[in-house]
Parts: sequence; structure tokens; C-alpha cells
Amino acid sequence: MHQAGDPYPVLLGENLVDRVGALMKKLWGRRRVAVVTQAVVERLHGDRLYQSLDRAGIPWTTLKMAVGENNKNLDTVNRLYEGLLREGFTRDDAVLAFGGGTVGDTAGFVAATFLRGVPYAQIPTTLLAQIDSSIGAKVGVNLPRGKNLIGAMYRPSAVWIDPSFLVSLPKRELRSGLFELVKYGFIGVPRLLSRVEQEPLEVGSESLVRAIADGVRRKLDVVRRDEGERGLRRILNFGHTIGHGLEAASDYKLLRHGEAVGWGMVGAVRLGERRGSIDSLMASRLESAIRRIGPLPAITKLKKARVLAAVNKDKKRSQAGLRFILPVGWGLVETIERFPESEIAWALTSLGVHD
Ligand code: NAD
Repeated sequence: MHQAGDPYPVLLGENLVDRVGALMKKLWGRRRVAVVTQAVVERLHGDRLYQSLDRAGIPWTTLKMAVGENNKNLDTVNRLYEGLLREGFTRDDAVLAFGGGTVGDTAGFVAATFLRGVPYAQIPTTLLAQIDSSIGAKVGVNLPRGKNLIGAMYRPSAVWIDPSFLVSLPKRELRSGLFELVKYGFIGVPRLLSRVEQEPLEVGSESLVRAIADGVRRKLDVVRRDEGERGLRRILNFGHTIGHGLEAASDYKLLRHGEAVGWGMVGAVRLGERRGSIDSLMASRLESAIRRIGPLPAITKLKKARVLAAVNKDKKRSQAGLRFILPVGWGLVETIERFPESEIAWALTSLGVHD
């Protein structure tokens, strides 16, 4: 029987989708599967997945959800529950999340709660989902008052990562994932920073697959040591304190998640230099690693007071005050508690966000 606490395999391979049916049969036998996806993902890649399931003799049905962060909500969850009930799904069946992070988070939450929990697996199709959101067991949806306010820790039975899906990914979505890859560089994989500096991380390239593998390994390593985010896992929030503030202050419309983290990392690097935790040479090296990925959308129209209010509301704020992840070396960060808001305000000014 599936239990939410079991360890789970994470496999990475070009064209892995063609073997997913066989892998799934090994995992679950011929359990029926509800593929939760979006129309665009199904149109681009659905046939390959369905053929793979058919070859293995796995019965499947598809439930679609709309695109966009604002559809990662309880209405969508309700519609998915309805779909599962309409199709007669029971605890003997399973859910397969097939899409980006919004699909993975929502489908995972549905799996965690439908009939008190059914097994689910993830096939992430964006770079961000492949290196980040599909791993680590956090599932959930947004409320009108804030992002990811409803959720659970619920482990998938497996994560199958196929970089060949990335061929159709819009450039901006790809960059969003690359910014998150740079984040792993900062938090303990200096090799990834060097890759970003030296290698063309293009879709279809060996170097991108190797970079994905580095990122996945780092995330797995961190979450296996601290799944419940009591300590170490907090370093995954590098760039997120300012990043979340920027995202929320623009109602999640201006920036992709990775772009917001990109700005947040630039802010953190500048604060590191200002505090003397890194020198100016390292600060400019780190900043150019971020800039090398590509342009970050301008944020000069945002109001500083709104961003600061959002930073303060962030659920990751500890009871003692603001928590901030500061760079202290090439691939090294430190968690600072009770970080002064005035320093965040300074960083925002340096990024072009004014009163
Ligand atoms: P997304 O799910 O919105 O996908 C981005 C866009 O790409 C969508 O329009 C989608 O339809 C499209 N798309 C997906 N795969 C495609 C493909 N192969 N080709 C072409 N288009 C494709 O966004 P995302 O960046 O993948 O995920 C962001 C979400 O992830 C946020 O909701 C964030 O909160 C969440 N997240 C969760 C965790 C976690 O630990 N659970 C971690 C980080 C982020």
C-alpha cells in the first residue's frame, strides 16, 4: 500500500516518457491513472505519454486544468475532485501530474486529499518543475489572500524527468527555470555557477541535462535531510525573500517565479557586498552569472512600500522577524534571522524600486 512517507525514485533521462508506461506498471501494476494536465501540454506532448501508457496496458483518463498561477486554486481542486468522482476513481487508482509547477502542485494536493489520499507521480514538463517544484513533496494551492497558503507535505510515488519536453518551452519559461538553477549554484553547487558562466545551457544540449541533474541532486539532498523545513531546507529560499515580495506586489502578473528569484538573488548579492560577507569581485561575478541567463523584466514601476509590505507578510517570515539567506562565498550562503527591513529597503532601491 502507498504511504505518504515512502522514499520515492527520481529518474532523469532524455525521452524517458517513452518508458513511463513500463515504469508505472512496475510501480503500481495496472492501476487506473488520472492524468492531470493543461490543454497546451496535452497538445504538444500528450500523444507520447498516452502511447507509452497504452503500450503498458495502463487504463487512463485525462482531467484538464486551466493555465496560470491564478488557476492554482480551490475551484480547480474542486473541479478535479468532481472529475475523479465522475470517472469513478477509488483509492485503488492514482493521479499523474503532467505539466509545470502549477499542475504538479495542484494535482499533488488533489492526490493528497482525495479519499484521504491516493498515490501520485509527477512528470514535470517545465525546467522549473523539473529541477524544483516536482521534488520535495510540497503540494498546495493559492488563496485569494496569498500564494501556497493551503497545502500538504505529500510524497509522490515517483518523479520522471524528461528534458525532451523542454523543446517546446517558451524562452521566457526556460529562463525562469535557469534562474532557479543558478540558485542551486549559490546554495552549495559552485560547479553549476561555473556551468552558467562557461557553457551554453541550450535545450537539447548535454550541458543542460547535466545542469538539471546537478540541480535535482542538490534539491534531493537538501529535502532528504530536512523535508519539514526545520533548518537546512530554508537555504532553498535564497533569493525568495525579495523575490516573493516582488511577485506579490505585482499581483503575480509582472514576473515569472524564476525571474522574481533572479531579482531577489541580485538584491541578496548586493546586500552581501554591502555587509562585507562577499567582496566586490565576487559580487560582480555572481551578478553577471545571473545576468548571463538573460534579461530580467524591469521592476521600476513597483512601489517600494508595497513590496516591503509583501515581504513582511511572507509566510516564511519567522516569529522572531525576517529571515534572509545571504551569500557568503562562491556557492555558499548563510541564514540570518531578524534581518533588518531597512536593508531590504536599501536593496530594493538598488534594484530600481522606489517610493
Ligand atoms: P506553470 O506551471 O505555470 O508553467 C508555465 C507555462 O508553461 C504554462 O503556460 C504551461 O502551460 C506551459 N508549459 C508547461 N510545459 C510546457 C512545455 N513542455 N512546452 C510548452 N509549454 C509548456 O509554471 P512553472 O514555472 O512550471 O511552475 C510555477 C509554479 O510552481 C508556481 O505555482 C510555484 O508556486 C510552484 N512551485 C512549487 C514548488 C514546490 O516545492 N512545490 C517549488 C517551486 C515552485
